[in-house]
Parts: sequence; structure tokens; C-alpha cells
Amino acid sequence: MEEGFMHKQAQRRTAGAHRKQSVSSNAKSRIALVAVATGAVSTAGAGGAAAAHATHPAAASTEARDEAPDYTLVADSVAPVIGSSEAPQILNIAEFKPIDNLAEQLNKAIQYNAERIAADLAARAPKSSAPAEGTLTSTFGARWGTLHAGVDIANALGTAITAVEDGTVIDAGPASGFGQWVRIKHADGTVTVYGHMETVEVSVGQQVTAGQRIAGMGSRGFSTGVHVHFEVHPNGGGAIDPLPWLAERGVFL
Ligand SMILES: [Zn+2]
Repeated sequence: MEEGFMHKQAQRRTAGAHRKQSVSSNAKSRIALVAVATGAVSTAGAGGAAAAHATHPAAASTEARDEAPDYTLVADSVAPVIGSSEAPQILNIAEFKPIDNLAEQLNKAIQYNAERIAADLAARAPKSSAPAEGTLTSTFGARWGTLHAGVDIANALGTAITAVEDGTVIDAGPASGFGQWVRIKHADGTVTVYGHMETVEVSVGQQVTAGQRIAGMGSRGFSTGVHVHFEVHPNGGGAIDPLPWLAERGVFL
């Protein structure tokens, strides 16, 4: 093998020095074919979709027949490398032909990657979220002789109030005592209530997702400071303590 290689190297040097005499017209036409195939492959590699059709074997050979004279100059310039009539490199180039469907393969890869990223983001999206960041200033229970039917979270005016779970907005706007409120119905029938907001940023019928901003914190209605009042009503019925309900969902105020 090594001996054969050395022998060919020697042949090539000879061919290079005298290539105009040693390269037969038959060899030149074969070289022209190689030049076309090589050009098509490298164009497909750089250009992708648009060049893919040019690598079709039929197209390549047609080009070779029609434009063979144009490629003799190229053949001369590469003659030192493939001047030998045995030149095994010619066969290797044919192996690049399956690049025919490169565009299709790329599109499938890109589509698969986009689907994988979307699935990954959905898997990592929170199923539950706190109604707001801030300080828990009042809990569920008797207060001032009545039932405080939710929890209060205090923070600065305009702080984001967010949906605790995915759901549909069933009320959004002015409400007695709450100043303004938003009510969201979730898939299991639970209704969550958010009150006293300065700005209401969703409308009735809107689909919202866990953690999505629905309002800006305020102090409207029966309120002594900027906070959100938050209630949980299983199946739309009586209010329960939101803290254990949230804790079951991995949310701790
Ligand atoms: Zn409250």
C-alpha cells in the first residue's frame, strides 16, 4: 500500500511536469465530469436548499455534456492532483450525491428542534403561582367581627398581580367592597378572586396562564393600604383558607 502510494506520487510529479502531453482527451473529459460534480457538491454545501437540485446525477451529467469545453481550464489547473488515469479520488466524490434531499433533512431537523424546545418550555412552565410578590399582612379567618375570606399581600402600587393557575376570566372590573376585582375560573371549577387593584389588565372571557400578570396592585374599595386581597372558592362555592390550597400546589406565601 505504502509502496503503491509512493509510486503514484512519483507518477503525479511526472504528470504535473508534462501534463499537456500525458493527459489524454479521454482523461480530460473524465476530469471535466469530476469538476462539475465537485462544483455542484461544494455549492450545495454552502448554499443548501437552492443548490440541492443541481446535485441530481442526471442534471450533473447533462451539464457535463453541454458545457464540457468550459471545464477543460479547470481540469488543467487540477491536473497535478488527478492526472493519473487510475485516480481513485474520482469514485469518492460520487458518495456525496445523497445530499439531494438536504433541504428536506434540514427542515425536518429545524422543525423537530422547535417542537422539542416548545415541549421543554411547557414542561418547565409553572402550574401554579403566587397571586403577588409581597408581605403577607392578613390571613384567612375572623377579623373585626367578620370572616376575612382570603389573604392579603402588600407591596408597592402597581406591583404585578398574577393568575395563580391557568383559567378563564369570568369577572374583571368594579365590585362592591373590592373597589375592582378579577375572578378566574380554573379547569377543576375552582374560582380565584383578586381584589383592590389599581389597574385591571384582563377582560371577561380571556384565557390566562399561571403566573400571567392580570392587574396592578392598588388600594381601592374597603382597604387600608396597597395590597391584593386573594380568595379561593372550590367549585365556585364558599371560600377556603388559601394558604394550604396554595401550599398543596408548591406555592408558599
Ligand atoms: Zn383582604
